[in-house]
Amino acid sequence: MSVNVRYTRYLVFALVGLTFFYLVSRTNLRLPSSASFSRPAPTYNEFKANKFQIPGANSTERVNATFVTLARNSDLWDMVKSIRTVEDRFNRDYNYDWVFLNDKEFDEDFKKLTTALVSGTTHYGLIPKEHWSYPEWIDQDKAADARQEMDRKKIIYGGSESYRHMCRYESGFFFRHPLMLNYEYYWRVEPSIELFCDIGADPFRFMKENDKKYSFVISLYEYEATIPSLWSSVQKFMANHPQHIAQDNAMEFISDNGGETYNKCHFWSNFEIGSLEWLRSQAYLDYFESLDKDGGFFYERWGDAPVHSIAAATMLRKDQIQFFHDIAYYHVPFTHCPNDEQTRLDLRCSCKPKDNFDWKDYSCTNRWFKVNHLQKPDGWD
Ligand code: GDP
Ligand code: MN
Repeated sequence: MSVNVRYTRYLVFALVGLTFFYLVSRTNLRLPSSASFSRPAPTYNEFKANKFQIPGANSTERVNATFVTLARNSDLWDMVKSIRTVEDRFNRDYNYDWVFLNDKEFDEDFKKLTTALVSGTTHYGLIPKEHWSYPEWIDQDKAADARQEMDRKKIIYGGSESYRHMCRYESGFFFRHPLMLNYEYYWRVEPSIELFCDIGADPFRFMKENDKKYSFVISLYEYEATIPSLWSSVQKFMANHPQHIAQDNAMEFISDNGGETYNKCHFWSNFEIGSLEWLRSQAYLDYFESLDKDGGFFYERWGDAPVHSIAAATMLRKDQIQFFHDIAYYHVPFTHCPNDEQTRLDLRCSCKPKDNFDWKDYSCTNRWFKVNHLQKPDGWD
């Protein structure tokens, strides 16, 4: 009798032990001791292979994120195209919210149609006057003279006042609009863009799980005439706030001489998936305030693309910036199309690989690959 009890006890221990190890291996649970091993971040492809499930609107797997669009009422029909492409290629399965921002009230037609097309909840925000007007330290006559001069020189948007307010707003304010405060990540969408491939997995989730703060699909050189004094303004900021400059940053991407001069490379910001919490951080706010005080949004024509890019390349670690290789994208006049045929087939892409801008002369993406010691993928030309 007592022998039987002992054997039964061993049997139970053995079964419990086996079940435990079976569960650990099945569910990929990590034992506490393995948490201290540093694991290289997965590539986006690996992430997709592991996380292909589509969570649905109420799932806790969704990230606290939103699409965001700055637009005028007159942008409605171009916006409709962008929404359709984003919904068809991605959001119909995820139902993320969409925030629309405007310096004037959106009209009923705009709200009615965009609400019908977006699968998630839509929100419409009016931009407060103090975020879309001249700060008191700006000399408006000097700004008007600068516009006239740049218009005469035929610099793109050189004569436009509203374009300058737009660039300043995208640089320093959209992430602090009351409608944006509840979200952690954003995906910026402009009118008349196109996505050529299925997205395949949730880029918001990829960003969050891998501590990415900023991302891009196309990069290129900025027009010198729009930013003559931007780099000296950045240098002043860096000298005054050395604590905001990150170790292992991507300075090499934007400067060929350790920060002495700007090479004009920037991420094309009409596409962005990024962290709102980073933009709302003290580092970014100090950066924007310092640049804004120097007046180049009005006396020159600083774009939000170089402003965001320089911030990302100096105040983030290089590995917190993500190049989304297989998000195929078009905004006039450039296309990003995966050259790898298997990717195009898997993601049902409709872009022509010949149109891919990445390796053309005017692109900076080859530089991004070099700085990050990345191999040009097979089949890319
Ligand atoms: P580009 O891509 O640099 O040629 O500039 P866009 O004309 O596409 O403008 C960039 C973004 O800002 C787009 O989402 C526009 O809809 C938006 N935008 C530009 N100007 C204005 C403006 O005056 N008011 C509002 N509400 N949105 C604007
Ligand atoms: Mn645009």
